[in-house]
Amino acid sequence: MTSDDQALTCTAYIGLGSNLGDRLGNLSKALYEIAGFEQTTVQAVSHAYESEPAYLSEQPNFLNAVCQICTVLEPEQLLGCLLGIEDRMGRVRTCANDPRVIDLDLLVFGECELSTERLTLPHPGITQRDFVVTPLLEIAPTLVLPGGVQLRRTDGLIGRCISDAGPIPGPHPTRGSQ
Ligand code: AMP
Repeated sequence: MTSDDQALTCTAYIGLGSNLGDRLGNLSKALYEIAGFEQTTVQAVSHAYESEPAYLSEQPNFLNAVCQICTVLEPEQLLGCLLGIEDRMGRVRTCANDPRVIDLDLLVFGECELSTERLTLPHPGITQRDFVVTPLLEIAPTLVLPGGVQLRRTDGLIGRCISDAGPIPGPHPTRGSQ
């Protein structure tokens, strides 16, 4: 990315989750794909967290993580790229909240606030989901969401993180080398 491009970039946060197959490998593969998006840099990646399924309890635990990127893509383009990864990795949509090889949510895109048929920003589930709040606070402890909402890990969040499953192999800086 040139310095001219950098002036046009936006910081965004993406939530990643997997509860089928090689979960850590799936998160890693998705991160490599995100790092390959046009004029996009992965700046930080949280550890993976083992978490309880949030809505349909009769399914395996998830591994969840959050990454921070810098990109020139527009929000709709970025969403399209994320859905493309889900398709290529073989995500099958049967019903809402079903088990999945990979789930990618565009959590925050700069200060952007919008709601269309295809995209809501910030992602409406962020503040209720421990599997988002915990990894997001790890890499962005002072983040204030567009609209002024402060992130907090509190009792009563759904999809509770049970344990820290450690770093995810990938193309990004790891904790300690940043
Ligand atoms: P899900 O089952 O959570 O993967 O839902 C994916 C669908 O939610 C996509 O087809 C998107 O059009 C829609 N969607 C709306 N807002 C967002 C967002 N912020 N991030 C990801 N998907 C979104």
